[in-house]
Formats: sequence, structure tokens, C-alpha cells
Amino acid sequence: MTNYSHLFTPLELGHVTLKNRVLMGSMHTGLEETKDWARVAEFYAARARGGVALMVTGGMAPNREGGVFPGAAGLFTDDDIANHRIVTDAVHDAGGLIAMQVLHAGRYAYGPECVSASPIKSPISPFPPKELDEDGIEKQITDIVTACVRAREAGYDGAEIMGSEGYFLNQFLVRHTNKRTDRWGGSYENRMRLPVEVVRRARAAVGDDFILIYRLSMIDLIPEGSTFDEVIELAQAIEAAGATIINTGIGWHEARIPTIATSVPRAAFSWVTKKLMGHVGIPVITSNRINTPDVAEDVLATGCADMVSMARPFLADANFVAKAAAGDTHLIAPCIACNQACLDHTFSGKISTCLVNPRACHETELEIKPADTPKKIAVVGAGPAGLSAAITAAQRGHDVTLLDRDTRIGGQLNMARVIPGKEEFHGLVDWFSAMLKQTGVHLSLGVDVTDDKMDGFDDIIIATGVAPRDPGIPGQDGPNVVTYIDVLRGGATVGQRVAVIGAGGIGFDVAEFLTQTGGSPSENLPEWMVEWGIADPAKARGGLAPEGPRPEPAARQVTLLQRKAERPGKRLGKTTGWIHRATLKMKNVTMMGGVNYERIDARGLYISFGEARERPTLIEVDTIVLCAGQLPQRGLADRLQAAGRMVHVIGGADVAAELDAKRAIDQGTRLAAAL
Ligand code: FAD
Ligand code: NAP
Ligand code: SF4
Repeated sequence: MTNYSHLFTPLELGHVTLKNRVLMGSMHTGLEETKDWARVAEFYAARARGGVALMVTGGMAPNREGGVFPGAAGLFTDDDIANHRIVTDAVHDAGGLIAMQVLHAGRYAYGPECVSASPIKSPISPFPPKELDEDGIEKQITDIVTACVRAREAGYDGAEIMGSEGYFLNQFLVRHTNKRTDRWGGSYENRMRLPVEVVRRARAAVGDDFILIYRLSMIDLIPEGSTFDEVIELAQAIEAAGATIINTGIGWHEARIPTIATSVPRAAFSWVTKKLMGHVGIPVITSNRINTPDVAEDVLATGCADMVSMARPFLADANFVAKAAAGDTHLIAPCIACNQACLDHTFSGKISTCLVNPRACHETELEIKPADTPKKIAVVGAGPAGLSAAITAAQRGHDVTLLDRDTRIGGQLNMARVIPGKEEFHGLVDWFSAMLKQTGVHLSLGVDVTDDKMDGFDDIIIATGVAPRDPGIPGQDGPNVVTYIDVLRGGATVGQRVAVIGAGGIGFDVAEFLTQTGGSPSENLPEWMVEWGIADPAKARGGLAPEGPRPEPAARQVTLLQRKAERPGKRLGKTTGWIHRATLKMKNVTMMGGVNYERIDARGLYISFGEARERPTLIEVDTIVLCAGQLPQRGLADRLQAAGRMVHVIGGADVAAELDAKRAIDQGTRLAAAL
């Protein structure tokens, strides 16, 4: 599909017209907290130049107690307003529109001063909130309204009032967190009084010619969540109170159901937004796991919403909309929904960026400029490190040849993409392929590069990746032992009972691969919903299926082991590790830490526990899969260096420990930007 007729239909909002149906959803990037306002401005201006109709900033705190963490950014002073003006001016100069999100975190605020409807601690925060009295509630309303007014003073075109994801306003809506018996609790009319009052007073304060978006939780995915009748009642009251647009929120942060991770099917929740269509007269926006123009167009064409919100796809590619409009969809860098460089960074206190696009949030620091002197460059290895280096160097005008011994590009990404729930890696490899063509990189596949093939190049980049670590377990040469490469690339036969040695990212992925029956639920929405226990919120309160998660039985009986005496999977991604652990638990995978690998024979794997090698145990299995980490593959680099050649070594070939595609792409891009 190249004619995105729905996507590119303007949307009339009364005092202003949006040029297309794409909203860049709110993301906390950490940029505002740097106080480098030129950098913040360029982040948003780049997306405005890229054609998105309207953007929403990361959440701004209305007051200290409502900030997501101590020191969270907000518009508290005249200086704050002047600083935000730098951002809004840059966006307007670039032809864009921008709204500021007002985010009161309530009991999700990470600090002892946090407040809420009732003093009930959230499972994801150590701080019990203080219960607000009548005056306290009035103060919160005033502060949220004041933040909207200040947003207008700072030049924003609108404000988004955050009412979903389990934040402050959402906490008043459901009995799960609101046990009050006064006029702010009890009946639904009372529980929805706060959000409606906030919107009513905000509209009165900001005037008619200002966009007010209300983000409304349409499926809470928590016990005692809202029914869909309540969602409709709230949406109608929010419209009557003066909102311009209703945006969709999916799931509270404490929900134990994935809502945006890569294993969530694309547009998995648009059917929920569709249920609201026709019940309100103002435009409705849908969101979550919409990451290509085709998916966005389909969501609009099938009447799920009036507009789509995409957030992370604008980290991956600032020019998403412009490329779609030009028919260059294949050149849009895809958001693979990994969370590795965006949300995982946010939750580690680091500035967000993007695995696929290291320039995201680093626009003013990492610039890809034409090279002063074009050179002839060889890149060996077409994994993510080599691909990024080759494409970036070619973009700068260098004459680049990329070589790989494999017959296809992608390196280890070709193993990642066969894992159930990691199908987005297909799109990433396809994008690399399109970019090689677009930038004119000479591609030479099926070539095992040896030292002599490197003559005639000014610069040599070695991106030859890694080799699996040999764990040296007695008996590992037996026919019942295979490596993850044999399983994921070679199609090795694996028996019914399996031991996986090594519980790192690859051990977990292999365990998911081996326990999966039939196709991947990530490509089958009804099956995925059954697996995680998601129901229609019109039939089950909060959208939680009464029968709970019902995964398919595991295809194999798997034991996943590591030597470290800690919970396996503890070091996986901050925002996604729990999903991998829950998935394997649902497949009855046995996870063991603190083991020693004694030996292997035809009966299986012999282990013991602890430094004293206690409790000798035989795990009777048919197959043992080695996933014991990786070592740099740098023989070629060492030989070339010994011969006096100047080489640059990147990715796994440089350092294999804690290597992932994020580091590989970042290193490749930064090296090529400097050559
Ligand atoms: P590689 O991807 O290993 O590429 C090296 C390339 O060099 C290969 O194509 C190889 O054929 C070529 N080569 C080697 N020697 C020569 C030679 N002499 N001549 C020619 N060519 C040569 N990372 C993430 O960030 N997120 C994930 O979710 C994720 N999931 C993964 C799942 C699995 C199952 C696996 C195996 C890996 C996963 N990774 C993930 C890790 C990620 O794929 C690697 O970190 C990344 O691919 C390393 O990039 P690289 O370019 O350094 O090396
Ligand atoms: P890893 O994460 O370093 O895990 C290696 C595993 O092997 C660990 O469980 C380790 O645990 C074990 N091990 C190490 N030395 C061993 C030895 N001598 N004998 C036996 N076991 C040994 O590496 P990986 O799983 O190979 O993954 C490679 C990289 O790909 C990782 O850095 C990861 O970031 C990336 N990756 C990421 C994802 C993702 O979803 N983000 C998914 C897959 C891979 P013990 O030392 O405790 O035994
Ligand atoms: Fe998307 Fe991953 Fe980039 Fe985040 S880091 S924007 S999830 S590709």
C-alpha cells in the first residue's frame, strides 16, 4: 500500500486543522531535565520537519508531589516558561504543532510526598501515598489547570491531560485505588468527578482556541478496573467538559500484561478504541504497537479511530510521516518495540535514544555531515555493527564496500528474528537492505574475508562479530549436545526433554523457541489475548479474562540453568525482563541458578550446587543446548594489525561482553560519523 488516503486526510479541530492523522505520542526522554533547551528544541523540531501533524511532549509535573520522580521537569517558574518557548518557537518555525502533557503521577510518584485518592501503595513503588483531603484535592486541580495555562503562555498549541496508565486521575476512577466515601469516591459519578472537573476548569482557564487532549484509560488490565460502560460515560463527560480530542491509554503500569513490548501484536488494542467510536462527537485517537504507515492506515480505514498515536516510531525515524507521504515506506527506520534504548534508559535514569537510530535525542551531538575527503572504505561483517557503519559512511559520501561470508545480511539478527515474539527483527533487516541500496554501498556476500582481500582500501572496519563461548563441560562432544546456532540456524533436531546451559538473553530466547507450539502468538491476536488473559472490557471489568491467562501447553519440557546464584533473568531488559520470565513460567520451564556443570553423558546433564558442589543431581534430558555466552571474533583484525594495517574494530569483534544490537549500531554509526 502506498496511497495512505486516510492517514493523509486533514483533521478539522475548529480553531486549527491538523495536516494529517498522525500524533507523536508522549515520551519521557529525559531531555528536559538536561536543561539544554537547544537540544530539546532540535529533538522536537526535527520531528516537526518530518511532517507529523501534532506532537505531545513528555509528561510535565504540575507540582512537586505529582512529579514522576523528585526533580521531574515542569513549568513552575517564569524561567521554565521562557525555556519552553525555545522549544515551541523551534517547532512552529518548522511548521509543526505541539501540546504539552501534564502528568500527575499520584501514587506512582517516586517519592515520600506522593498523594492519591486513598493511602494504598502501588505494587511498583515503595512509597505509600498520602490520602488527599478536600483542600488537597482542590490544590491538585488548581495545579493541573495552572500547568495547562502556563503551557499556553509558553507557546504550546495545546495540553494533554494524562488520565490513564494508572496515574493520579485514573486512581480516582476505580475502586481498586479509590476507597473514599466523600463526594470524590463511592459511586462512579463521584469517582469520575476529579478528571471531569480538571478538564472543565482547564477549558475555562485556557479559552476555546487551545487543544485539550484527555488521555483516557480504555482497558485498565487490573483487578476492579473500569467497565466499558464506565469508559463511555467518562468519555462523554470529558467531551461535555470541553476536551478537543480523546486519546487512548492501555493498561496501568502495574498491569501484568504486556502492552507495548515487541511480543505484543501490532495494533493489538485498536479494537478497544473502536468500541468508543460513535459514542462521542470529538476525534478519538488510538495507540500502542502501531509502527508502520500500513498498520496506521489500516487502523484508520477500518474505523478504529480518527487518528493514530505513535511515539517510539518517531525515535526510530524523525521523518516517518514525510517518507510515508513520499512513498518511501521501505526507507522508514522501523521501531522494533524492544524498549532497549528508550524505556529501559528512562527507568535507569539515562537519556532515551533508539536502538535503531542512535541520533534520537542526540541530534545536536551526533551529526552525519558530508566527509571532507571521500575515502575508499571496506567493512567486513554485515551484522548490525557493520551495516550501520557502512550505511553511515556511504551517507557521508565515502565509497563503501561491505563484505560478509554469509549469503545474507543481518548477522545474528537472523537468529533473533526466528524467536517467537521477535518478528520485528525481520523489518529491521529489510530496512538495512533498503538503506544499503539507497546509499549505494557495494555489497559482497558469500565472501570469507582473508587478509589479502583488504588491499586498496583507505580504511578497514572489522565487524566480524562473535563466536560462542566453549563452556568446556566434560562430555559436551556427545551427539546430544548442540549450540544455539545449531538450533536457530542449522535446524538441529532437539528432543522432548531439554537442558539449556546459560540463562542470558540467548538462553531465554532459545527456551522460548523450544517451548513454542505452532505459530507465534505475536502474529495471532486472538491467540495472544487468550495466552495473556485479555478480555473485552464490555464483558469483563478492566479487560481481565475471569479464567486468567491460558497459554498453549509447552512443546517441550525445558530446564534453564546458570551458575550465578541469582534469579535467572534478573539482568534482562528493565521493562521487558518480566515478560520473558512470565512467558517461560507459563510454559512450565524450570529455572535454576547456582549450579555447577559436572559432566554430560547419554542420560543427560549432571550438576551440583554451590561452591561445595553439593547435592549431585542428574537432569535426565534428550538434548543439551549450549548458550554460554560469546567471545570476540577478531582473528582477521589481529592479523591485519600485526601486518601494520590500520583497522577499526566494532561490535562483538571489539567487545563481546554485554554486547547487543544497541551497542553494535551505536558504535558503527559513531565510528562512521567520524571517519
Ligand atoms: P554479528 O551480528 O555477529 O555479525 C557479524 C558478521 O560478520 C556475521 O554476518 C558474520 O557472517 C560476518 N563475518 C565474521 N567473520 C567474517 C569474515 N572473516 N569474513 C566475512 N564475514 C565475516 N540484541 C539485541 O539488542 N536485542 C535482542 O533482542 C537480541 N536478541 C538476540 C537473539 C538471539 C537469538 C541472538 C543470537 C542475538 C540477539 N541479540 C539481540 C544480539 C545481537 O544480535 C548482537 O549483539 C549483534 O548482532 C552483534 O552485532 P555485530 O555486528 O557485532 O555482529
Ligand atoms: P550473556 O547474556 O552474557 O549470557 C551468557 C550466559 O552464559 C549466562 O547465563 C552465563 O551465566 C553463562 N555462562 C557464561 N560463561 C559460562 C561458562 N564458561 N560456562 C557455562 N555458562 C557460562 O550472553 P548471551 O545469552 O549469549 O547473549 C549475548 C548478547 O546478546 C547479550 O549480551 C545480550 O545482551 C544480547 N541479547 C539480548 C537480548 C535481548 O532481548 N535484549 C536477547 C538475546 C541476546 P553464568 O555465568 O551464571 O553461568
Ligand atoms: Fe523502538 Fe527499540 Fe528504538 Fe525504543 S529503542 S524506539 S523500542 S526500536
